[in-house]
Amino acid sequence: MANGQEFEVIIIGGSYAGLSAAMSLGRALRKVLVIDSGLPCNRQTPHSHNFLTQDGKKPKEITNIALAQIAHYTTVEFYQGLAINASKTKKGFLVEIQNGEVFQAKKLVFATGIKDIMPDIEGFTECWGISAVHCPYCHGYEIKGQKTGIIANGDAAMHYAQLIHQWTKDLMLFTNGKSTLTEEQSNKLKKYNITVVETDIDALVHTDGYIEKIVLKDGPAIALNAVYYRPVFVQHSDILQALGCELTEHGLIRVDSFQKTTIAGVFACGDNSNPMRSVAMAVASGSATGAFVNHELIGETF
Ligand SMILES: Cc1cc2nc3c(=O)[nH]c(=O)nc-3n(C[C@H](O)[C@H](O)[C@H](O)COP(=O)(O)OP(=O)(O)OC[C@H]3O[C@@H](n4cnc5c(N)ncnc54)[C@H](O)[C@@H]3O)c2cc1C
Repeated sequence: MANGQEFEVIIIGGSYAGLSAAMSLGRALRKVLVIDSGLPCNRQTPHSHNFLTQDGKKPKEITNIALAQIAHYTTVEFYQGLAINASKTKKGFLVEIQNGEVFQAKKLVFATGIKDIMPDIEGFTECWGISAVHCPYCHGYEIKGQKTGIIANGDAAMHYAQLIHQWTKDLMLFTNGKSTLTEEQSNKLKKYNITVVETDIDALVHTDGYIEKIVLKDGPAIALNAVYYRPVFVQHSDILQALGCELTEHGLIRVDSFQKTTIAGVFACGDNSNPMRSVAMAVASGSATGAFVNHELIGETF
């Protein structure tokens, strides 16, 4: 691939959303470049669930099947690397890769995902996606009925406890500091035998990411098999803000119902713009984005 080469569409991010957009565009005979730095958010999870026909597959296996199928559409090219900058030009956009190469396109799609920020709890990062999880639809079935902790506080904790109680009744809530639950919420949790622990958490003791105990500051260690936690996140790529794409108050890229960002010619799909985080949702929004981008390109020439 030549430095400076022109494409109709550049997709930044080549995981589920990006590959799905690439498939739609490849099937529409569009000349596409997918740039991917190889760090999907679920890379540490041993098995991905709840995506029809691929339930229980390794995340990478699903990506590999997608790559093999997209290889059939020869107008789609791939570049392994990190896009570090994008700017508007008269013809469209210029995208710069970390190694200094640049590529041009009429349209830009961000399928860059989000970056989860791990809490300051020793051992948590190693357990993330294995026995420290965020989504019961993705992992709840595998840890059903097990001794489970929820790390959350206030209204979010209450909502999480109600939800997770569907999968296990052996639940404890760790507010990791003073509880901000209302009296009514605390009473409801008590009614369902969910103990609330306010002591700060020090560490998760685990073997190969599988939790055995949660260790409290200056306190005892409590035996547990799993924890639920919803990390705060940031956008994986700051290029989109540099281009001027607006974010919502929740930190997601603002898109309309055609996946268009607030900057003309720039689209976004997948986790970066959708609070319903799942492989199925990422694939769905990527597929729609491919069609919307193709439609916009057609409108400019026909
Ligand atoms: C631990 C964990 C477990 C999960 N388990 C499940 C599950 O079992 N089932 C399920 O349905 N969902 C699961 N999910 C959710 C699911 O993984 C996401 O919804 C899905 O990966 C989103 O796809 P995406 O393409 O939007 O983003 P991602 O898959 O995160 O991919 C984004 C891609 O963009 C690339 N990228 C970012 N910035 C740049 C840049 N500047 N230049 C080049 N490339 C860039 C990244 O390297 C990455 O490859 C899980 C999530 C997590 C965090």
